[in-house]
Amino acid sequence: MEINQHSGTIFDIQGFSVHDGPGARTLIFFKGCSLSCFWCSNPEGISKSNIPLYYSAKCIGCGNCKTSCPNKAIQFIDEKPVIDRDICEKCPENTCIDNCYTDALRMSGRTISVDELFSIIQRDRQYWGKKGGITLTGGEPLTQVDFARDILEKCYNAYIHTAIETCGHVPWKNFKKVIDYLDWIFFDLKHIDPKQHKIGTGSSNANIINNIRKLNETFKGKLVFRLPFIPGYNSSKENLEGIASLISESKWKEINILPLHHLGREKYQLLGLEYKAACFPTPSSEDLKNVKAVFEEFGVTCFISQDTPF
Ligand code: SF4
Ligand code: SF4
Repeated sequence: MEINQHSGTIFDIQGFSVHDGPGARTLIFFKGCSLSCFWCSNPEGISKSNIPLYYSAKCIGCGNCKTSCPNKAIQFIDEKPVIDRDICEKCPENTCIDNCYTDALRMSGRTISVDELFSIIQRDRQYWGKKGGITLTGGEPLTQVDFARDILEKCYNAYIHTAIETCGHVPWKNFKKVIDYLDWIFFDLKHIDPKQHKIGTGSSNANIINNIRKLNETFKGKLVFRLPFIPGYNSSKENLEGIASLISESKWKEINILPLHHLGREKYQLLGLEYKAACFPTPSSEDLKNVKAVFEEFGVTCFISQDTPF
């Protein structure tokens, strides 16, 4: 009998995506990321922990959460609970959520076994059409690499098309564990300058660039680069040319530009976090036309937003 030992923490499963790989796909959002980009539209995916989301409109100020928290992580300010997220990071109990009867506190993720996840994937399979499959995203799927490998292997062996979206900032040995079970990689790039990369994401890009070079030598599937485009952060011609040059040295010559949007802003409020991208503008169509021109000068095919061939 086949036994899958690993379970993982996810924060969402979306059943019918047409923008994250060929055909219609089931997206699985992993919790935990090795970067912390200030514009991230899924901030609930950055922490591996099940920290609570706080919906203030549902809160009646009863105080149950404060009295039930064993770690004294909740203070009341202006008759509303304010949660110390640093303490919650290490809390396995989440008793505050069980004791909030109005649903003002909810889990930001859940643990799931490989078999349970696979049965959800099998359920969705009938809706994908011929080309569809699964895409692991997040968060960073390769921070839970054993769980990711188990689900990818199971899908790959069942002739399901497999893809991941990765920030690339993981040890090379993590890529090695999964590449035999992957058809497709979306590889996110943010900035070519290591210092600017650290300012925007919390880490240098040295490891990421090394991993691209190693993938170039070993990965036989398809890879599409992605660039979250943030005017005023990574929009300079110098930066775009640096990224285009890096891509032109690889065997893959496609990039998908993801223009900054502010749709994730409300999630920062639910998490009690500051939304640092608020002062950055969304790009104009002229900006995006210029980006496309830069990449095409380097022989890199550039797809803007959802205008992709997949
Ligand atoms: S238990 Fe829920 S409703 Fe009561 S104060 Fe806490 S968050 Fe608000
Ligand atoms: S998650 Fe844990 S530490 Fe945080 S408020 Fe709830 S019970 Fe307290």
